[in-house]
Amino acid sequence: MHLDAQDNPALTAEVDRLLAHRTRDIRLNGEIKRLFRASIWPQTAKIIRAWMIWVALLDVLTLAFNMLMLPSPIAQSMLLPGAIVPPVAIVVVLMWRKPRAPWVQGTSLIAGMFLILLSVALVGVSAGGEFYERHLNIMLFVAITAIIIFGIPLAWTVAIAALALGLYLMFQLQNPAIEPESAVAATLFFASSIFATVAARRIMTILAQKTFLFELRDRRRVAELAKANDRLELLAKTDPLTGIANRRWMTETLDHLWGGDKRCLDGAAMLMCDIDHFKKLNDHLGHAEGDRCLIEVARIIQENVRRDRDHVARYGGEEFLVLLPGVNEEEAASVAERIRKSVEAAGFPNPGSRVSRRVTLSIGVAVQTSEEAISPEQLQRQADAALYLAKQTGRNRVLLHRPDSFGRKRIHSTR
Ligand code: GH3
Ligand code: MG
Ligand code: MG
Repeated sequence: MHLDAQDNPALTAEVDRLLAHRTRDIRLNGEIKRLFRASIWPQTAKIIRAWMIWVALLDVLTLAFNMLMLPSPIAQSMLLPGAIVPPVAIVVVLMWRKPRAPWVQGTSLIAGMFLILLSVALVGVSAGGEFYERHLNIMLFVAITAIIIFGIPLAWTVAIAALALGLYLMFQLQNPAIEPESAVAATLFFASSIFATVAARRIMTILAQKTFLFELRDRRRVAELAKANDRLELLAKTDPLTGIANRRWMTETLDHLWGGDKRCLDGAAMLMCDIDHFKKLNDHLGHAEGDRCLIEVARIIQENVRRDRDHVARYGGEEFLVLLPGVNEEEAASVAERIRKSVEAAGFPNPGSRVSRRVTLSIGVAVQTSEEAISPEQLQRQADAALYLAKQTGRNRVLLHRPDSFGRKRIHSTR
């Protein structure tokens, strides 16, 4: 089935409309009809090819058997009309090997069926006697099997049924053994059973179409659900105000990066950034202005990290967590300092701040080298501790949490 079927609203509406009505009223048209035909084509073609081969084999075997069992003049009279079936069947098989224009396929099948049915009838007609009516009956039997198992359009099925009955009536009227009245009566009798067969075929086709419609609807619903899920997942991981990742996403990312090894293999730096006296900004300029400041700071932080490797999340109200995989202390401190300076340089007003008239940022930095096994929680505690000290020692600064010469961690200021 083609994917474009999913995104076509007219088609979607038509599928729903057809399924809302009674099964027997299902009529496929236009695009849906084309899609249905395309979906059942391989199976239909396989059945038709197999049937053709079956009929050809049966024909050859019957002729061979008759040559052995029947008196020679009778068997020979059967040979010529019987020889029509195999080449006709082969041509139909070749025509149904790959999809062709519907009219080509319909014409080849109906013409092929006509010749095959005619051949079966002529075998009996030319042998005469008891074979005359017997082969006409065999011809009807052959037609009925085709009608039942060929999943083709109703018009083609009706054409095959009409050809079979027409041939039957025509040859029975010429049958010297029976009266014209009984020829007509026999034709009417078989017509009723063939009618029932065509009706059964029609129901089977409608049920196949209904299954196809359900399939179209299911696929569409699954696709819609997947889309909705993707959207929900994005919503669940995004901070609605700033549009950057949220704390949940960062936690998942940390778990993923640290993996089962309980360490980030390439080493990583964590930057805990917190806006200074942000409460004062809200108090002086209003909450809306505070929101605009958060959006701006989030943007500045993102602009100062590597887009393809680093991770930025809004971790709390006015706190941002930045993760820099594969960097050492120096690099981490330099990125942090760059962020701090860019925020200061942006000149966003914070009239109530005791540090500056402008919005400033304090950043605590903690680094895990590739040799150390520090959990993300530990690393975060270290970054938090560095941030706390940055606040204590005047704000608007970057403080680094790193071991001293005795292996203990100490705080180092970059300002
Ligand atoms: P410090 O320098 O010590 O960090 O002081 P601070 O005022 O920045 O810190 P504090 O934790 O006292 O205040 C944080 C404020 O951030 C309080 C809260 O109203 C505000 N805040 C949290 N989330 C939002 C938000 O989404 N929008 C706005 N406008 N303000 C928020
Ligand atoms: Mg703050
Ligand atoms: Mg805070």
